[in-house]
This record gives sequence, C-alpha cells and structure tokens, in this order.
Amino acid sequence: MRTVYLDHAATTPVHPDVVAAMAPYWSDSAGNASSMHEPGRIARHAVDDARDTIARALGATPSEVVFTSGGTEGINAAIKGAAIAAMARGRHVVTTAIEHHAVLHACGWLANLGFETTIVPVDRNGMVDPHDVRRAIRPDTVLVSVMFANNEVGTIQPIAEVAAFTRHAGVPLHVDAVQAAGTLPIDVHSMGIDLMTISAHKFQGPKGVGVLTIRNGTPWLPMQSGGAQESNRRAGTENVPGIVGLATALRLAVAHRDEANLHLSRLRDSAIERILSAVPHARLTGHPTQRLANNASFAFQGVEGESILLSLDMAGIAASSGSACTSGATEPSHVVAALGLPDDWVRGTLRLSFGAANDLGDVEAVATVLPSAVARLRALAPRRRDAGSATPPITGAVEGYPATVKPAHG
Ligand code: PLP
Repeated sequence: MRTVYLDHAATTPVHPDVVAAMAPYWSDSAGNASSMHEPGRIARHAVDDARDTIARALGATPSEVVFTSGGTEGINAAIKGAAIAAMARGRHVVTTAIEHHAVLHACGWLANLGFETTIVPVDRNGMVDPHDVRRAIRPDTVLVSVMFANNEVGTIQPIAEVAAFTRHAGVPLHVDAVQAAGTLPIDVHSMGIDLMTISAHKFQGPKGVGVLTIRNGTPWLPMQSGGAQESNRRAGTENVPGIVGLATALRLAVAHRDEANLHLSRLRDSAIERILSAVPHARLTGHPTQRLANNASFAFQGVEGESILLSLDMAGIAASSGSACTSGATEPSHVVAALGLPDDWVRGTLRLSFGAANDLGDVEAVATVLPSAVARLRALAPRRRDAGSATPPITGAVEGYPATVKPAHG
C-alpha cells in the first residue's frame, strides 16, 4: 500500500535536484571548509556560493547569513544571543502564545538569568494583533520574537506591521520563519526583521541544517564557543553538503513558489471543503484566508486527535495532530488551546499539510476515510461529546494500537 504523505509541515522529502547538488560534497569534494588546501578551498567556495544564494533569496547581505544545524538551534541562538547581549539594558522579552516550543522554552530558559517573558495572546484564528505586541513592549524589553507562520494551524502573521512597532521602539525582532521560508515572500531588510530563523528540511532540503540571519549592527552574542567559523558567530565545522542542499532547495522553492502555492492551495481548499461538508461537528482551525497554502487543519468535537491519526495511519495516510500524549492522556497543544476552542473540541485536532507530490487523489483518499473514522470513534466514546471537560480523556480508542503513540510534530 502506497503511503499518502500529508505531513509536510513536519518534514518534506528532499528534492532530487537537491540530492544531486549535495552528492559531490559527501566524497569527491569532502574537504573541510576551513582547510587551506585545494579540497578545503573547494568546500569554502561551495559554502560562499550557498551564502550568496541564500542572502539573495532572503533579502539579506551574505555577511548576515549564519549557518546552523536547523530551526531549533537558530531560534535558541537568536533569542538567547540577543537577550544576553542586551541584558545590561533590561531583562524582558516579548513573544506570542502560538510559538514553537523552541521559542517558548528558550524564553523560559532566560528566567535563569532573571528575565521575564510577556506572552501576547492570539485571536480565535491564531492571529497576533501587532498593537498587542506594541503594548507589551516596556522600557526594559530587549527582544521581541514572533513567528511568520504557525506550524499547527498555518496562520500567517502580520510581520511587517509588528516590525514597524519594534523598529519604532528600538527593540530587535526575531522571526521564526521555519514554516514560511520557501513558501512566502521574505525580505528581511525591507520587512524590518533583525533576526530570522529558517530550516532546510521544511522546503525539500536536508534535515539538520538551517540559517540564522542577523542584521548587521544587531546586538547579539554567539552561544557556541570553539573555532572561528561563520565569522566567529557559530563555532563548528560547516556541514558543507547540508549547506549546499539548503541553498539549492531555497533557490528552487523561490523560483517555483507561485506555481507550487497554486497547486497546494487547490489541494488545501478541496480538502477543507470536502472534510467540513462530510464530517459533522467539524471546524477549520487557523485563519480562513491568511494561512499557509499547504495547511488544512481541523478540530472535531468529541474525538481524540491521536485516535484519528491512528485510523488514518491504518488506511495508509500519514498526517499529524496538535495534541501530545502524556501518560496515556492526550493533552491539547498550546497552540490549539490558545485559540480558545471549547473543551470538547481541543483534543480532536488534525493537521493535513500538502506537498509538491500530492494530488487530488490524495485529497480523495483522506476525504473518503476520515468521515467514517470520526463517526466510528465517536460511536466508541459516545459520552465525550456531551460531557464537556469533566469527562476523562478517551485513550486507546483504536483497537490494535497502543494508547500512547507519539504524535508527529513539526
Ligand atoms: N519552528 C517551527 C515553526 C517549526 O515548525 C519547527 C519544526 O519542527 C521548528 C521551529 C524547529 O525546526 P527544526 O526541526 O529544524 O529544529
């Protein structure tokens, strides 16, 4: 049975042209980019070329591009590095309720150094009001971090408007653009973004490589000590094949962005329409229009997202849920909780995220399986829908599967 892969927000398959571009740097040209000799110089050229390509794609200068091991490292380096560099001035950071855990936990970690974090709420569509960000900025605020597009519900934030306020207040802005890069137009200079994180594996590049852009002049301290790589901003031997792969993937994604988004949004809109009309007590999560072209995310009343995932998995469909399973009890994700959905809806989440290789047949597959799966799960647990939050969560509702299965995340 062919797997219908609808989890591209978690990760994407690597584009064949990216595999081909990376190939020489595993063996024939496997020099260390810091070495003086010919193989080292070849690697250095590859890294420099990749830096130029990425800078052009993101509206930065090459000197503002720092290679990292991916989104999590870039976010930690951005937040901790900017906050610590400015801590003599103040110990307050601002972020939002729907950020990735890398952002929320990096801000939380700063409490060890006496920092406070203000978490700005979102509306029921997962949208941040830039004026709320403005109001949260205090005289001792040293960093604001707002994501470009949400990984669970796909809502795209008004980053340029947020940046106008952070600029006016003289506070650096970090943007987690992990879900946006390659999909949305990004120009860090014209948008007023000081620090920005991207990760190659979300746009058909390899896993374990990313970029942090740091606008020249932004107060920032490197968090990693060691060699002088990346102009003393990220110690450690460069991942040359990964860097070449990231640059190739980003170049391809930007070049084909419009046609890709058209294709993806057709699949997304078809999935949304078919699922909302076929499944009773279902609603779209995230913004109805300001959302990523590939994201169709839902909440279903009175079912567990995990159980839906397992039913889809048994039918050969790979998707994701925002919920996380702890000790057999499913907890709603902080993102879905932040949307303010009623208690008996927040655990029944499903995220379908489409990619280049998907087609309408894949939408057909999920739209065929899902309505009966949800109906069956509701029939297995009839109490839940009317009982509200006092009822213990349903677990292990799909026979033959363990009650605790780690959900796909991204
Ligand atoms: N930020 C967002 C919005 C994400 O979706 C992810 C993906 O998991 C990350 C950060 C972390 O990126 P990485 O998997 O490259 O560490």
